[in-house]
Amino acid sequence: MPQEIRELDPTTVERIAAGEVVERPASVVKELVENSLDADASRVRVAVESGGTESIRVSDDGIGMDEQALERAVRQHTTSKIRDIDDLEAGLATLGFRGEALHAIGAVSRLTITSRPRDDSADRGAKITVEGGDVGTVQPAGCPVGTTVEVEDLFYNVPARRKYLAQEATEFAHVNSVTTAYALANPDVAVALEHGGREVFATTGRGDLEETVLDVYGREVAEAMIEIDGAAVPEGPLEDISGLVSHPETNRASREYLSTYVNGRFVTADAVREAVIEAYGGQIASDRYPFAVLFVEVDPSLVDVNVHPRKMEVRFADAEGVREQITAAVEAALRREGGLRTRAPRG
Ligand code: ADP
Ligand code: MG
Repeated sequence: MPQEIRELDPTTVERIAAGEVVERPASVVKELVENSLDADASRVRVAVESGGTESIRVSDDGIGMDEQALERAVRQHTTSKIRDIDDLEAGLATLGFRGEALHAIGAVSRLTITSRPRDDSADRGAKITVEGGDVGTVQPAGCPVGTTVEVEDLFYNVPARRKYLAQEATEFAHVNSVTTAYALANPDVAVALEHGGREVFATTGRGDLEETVLDVYGREVAEAMIEIDGAAVPEGPLEDISGLVSHPETNRASREYLSTYVNGRFVTADAVREAVIEAYGGQIASDRYPFAVLFVEVDPSLVDVNVHPRKMEVRFADAEGVREQITAAVEAALRREGGLRTRAPRG
């Protein structure tokens, strides 16, 4: 019998596509925090219940949206951030650009966005709800300037997906790690994280990286951090390398404390992470990892940020050159602070 090829109904297509963007509560938090940062917020508060499986709320004091913008924001492939592919090639000033996060989140949860523009274009706020992909009408709402996005019952309408969420503690660990990554990358933004009504951390937003490390990781880690010296960065594809790495004695059994950023974008690029680890020359056990908050800058034409909607990967034209440069810069910092044992002379 010949196989029958059917066209999927739009609801199914939508939910499958949403799964590409939204994997778990932490991916929702990542998208919402990126939107707040793109909206020029100086304060971002993330509040979750039950690890984010019950509810996620991200509020900011950014530029906000008027009624028309709210209505557009939840549609698919709608963005205020790029016009066409040339804008991508030219290098992005924003974290978002695909215009699919809010749409995808709305397809697999109960989403409410309340917003009021920062400029004087509206004298009150407005609110829109999306429930499992059904978009409601925009309603007036009293609210402060900025935006609050609430996501409840993630995957309530995709039982197969909901079932695969981990225990609340694990989901929260992911939420914590992504919120931390954005807090560290933005010392000039006051970022706070709340779980079940309890504050987990809050940064001051005073613009100092070391103070931000202290706010999120505490004193022991903050005191173990060593600054990368820009003058010790060798020539190579990267224009600049900066940030902090921990003394080898301060390490953890998880890679999540390696926060690495390419042109301000939080990434998990192996070329970057492995280059940092390499610099420690085996002085940390192979199942332990240092703390790092490492920023690298590269000509946008030499890196592809458009690899996958969810995975925080980038691709470098010269990954080998990038590795060598980072390893050398981190090594120089560790050596300067007595963090590296001198290697045994050869021969
Ligand atoms: P993208 O970020 O790729 O543009 P999103 O679906 O995340 O796509 O958001 C769609 C649009 O909604 C954004 O381009 C922006 O104009 C608007 N938006 C989303 N979140 C906020 C926010 N917190 N403050 C102001 N505008 C926002
Ligand atoms: Mg976005």
